Amino acid sequence: MPLNELVLASHNAGKLKELQAMLGDAVRVRSIGEFSDVEPEETGLSFVENAILKARNAAKVSGLPALADDSGLAVDHLGGAPGIYSARYADGQGDAANNAKLLDALKEVPDAERGAQFVCALALVRHANDPLPIICEGLWHGRILHAAQGEHGFGYDPLFWVPERNCSSAEMAPADKNQLSHRARAMALLKQRLGIA
Ligand code: IMP
Repeated sequence: MPLNELVLASHNAGKLKELQAMLGDAVRVRSIGEFSDVEPEETGLSFVENAILKARNAAKVSGLPALADDSGLAVDHLGGAPGIYSARYADGQGDAANNAKLLDALKEVPDAERGAQFVCALALVRHANDPLPIICEGLWHGRILHAAQGEHGFGYDPLFWVPERNCSSAEMAPADKNQLSHRARAMALLKQRLGIA
């Protein structure tokens, strides 16, 4: 099915702009906000499940093909936590509280066991009941620092050590992070799948 219009299951104008730029003029990207203000409950246990759930909901309310993303940080020593709960790890108290809770959870853990990955799952459905969603996952491997470093980015960036750059992801120039990140990797795979790489 040729894809010339899709709805993005996000109210974030920045994400919409980034996606539109990536897909180019051939595909018109519309916001879920044009169709509904109600966000579906994220009841999945994985990034992929939640991305599919959001994409299906966006396709249902818009009648258009829909793309959704779900992302977060999965820490090896914590069995993948905070995972899908990354945004509200410290009960909705924000980034600083999330980071403090993570540092506390890893207080006694040596460097060799502080491996982690940022994860981004993208799900594209042609319609709400599509049995064959396109799923693309991007993983960005790193390690959790013992203290915050850097001023850029958001979320867990100050605690995420990037081996390829020898700095935290909050110390990387935003343009550099956008080339290497979990989101960039998932987007590159999606472009390949859509034949617009
Ligand atoms: P969302 O999928 O954009 O809502 O992101 C979920 C949560 O994962 C964010 O609130 C952050 O805590 C974390 N997260 C996702 N991507 C990044 C990133 O690139 N840097 C830092 N934190 C991230």
